[in-house]
Amino acid sequence: MIISIASGKGGTGKTTVAVNLALSLKEKNPVQFLDCDVEEPNAHFFLKPRIHKTLPVNLIIPEIIEDKCTFCGKCAEFCAFNALAVLKDDVLVFSELCHGCGGCSLVCPENAIKEYEQKIGVLELGTSNALQFIQGKLDIGKAMSPPIIRAEKKLIDKSRTVIIDVPPGTSCPFAEAVKGSDFTVLVTEPTPFGLNDLRLAVETIQKIEIPFGVILNRANIGNKNVQEYCREENIPILMTIPMDRKIAIAYSTGKTIIEIQPSYRQKFLDLYTKIQRLIQ
Ligand code: SF4
Ligand code: SF4
Repeated sequence: MIISIASGKGGTGKTTVAVNLALSLKEKNPVQFLDCDVEEPNAHFFLKPRIHKTLPVNLIIPEIIEDKCTFCGKCAEFCAFNALAVLKDDVLVFSELCHGCGGCSLVCPENAIKEYEQKIGVLELGTSNALQFIQGKLDIGKAMSPPIIRAEKKLIDKSRTVIIDVPPGTSCPFAEAVKGSDFTVLVTEPTPFGLNDLRLAVETIQKIEIPFGVILNRANIGNKNVQEYCREENIPILMTIPMDRKIAIAYSTGKTIIEIQPSYRQKFLDLYTKIQRLIQ
């Protein structure tokens, strides 16, 4: 089973949930943990894996062969990402916008496009006790995280329970990370910002058609609007985690909830059981 843990915005406790669920499950099931928050991977602070392999992730970028190009403009017309601009006597390639789809070289009638590989990040593979750990890291200055997430997800081991820590937000990296999951957990908090970002995340996840439920973190702050929204939309609230100073201090020192409050292990196992029931 692949379970992705997401949130419409950062700072809601998504990584906390992902890490604690993975650690609770690993006593009973083989678990693989994927940190797909490739711009700011931080699950390693809590899981403390030993990294034994690093793989580069490259993107295929087009390069124009000037003597062959007739400046017909077909490549720029094709590119959905505005990564090419054809001028009267020049073609500009904006490599930071290129998604490496290779389509421009296929449509070029003159064979005037060759391709080269540009490194955009790495995958780090390791273990943390019995848990298999993979994290993607986007290189500083690079903007294209979906290819790293795709490369990471190619390493999914379906014989294990897979927990994916999804990038925050609801744009392409979010969609790329949740795609193919059996279930997505949306972590939010009971504040106006939490509700607004939850609504956006729900809209996106409904379009991708993945079963989902909500975890309400810091449940005893704010108001009841998130609960009301979930009731109206028939969205299951799978678990609530209260605002707790001890949990916040533990987080800031790289400790997990189940380390400082072992009774939470059973709550995370119950969460897994609820998810299993919901997708049956
Ligand atoms: S499609 Fe080929 S020939 Fe036409 S502008 Fe692009 S690179 Fe040049
Ligand atoms: S490879 Fe794809 S994304 Fe990149 S410039 Fe060509 S058409 Fe655009």
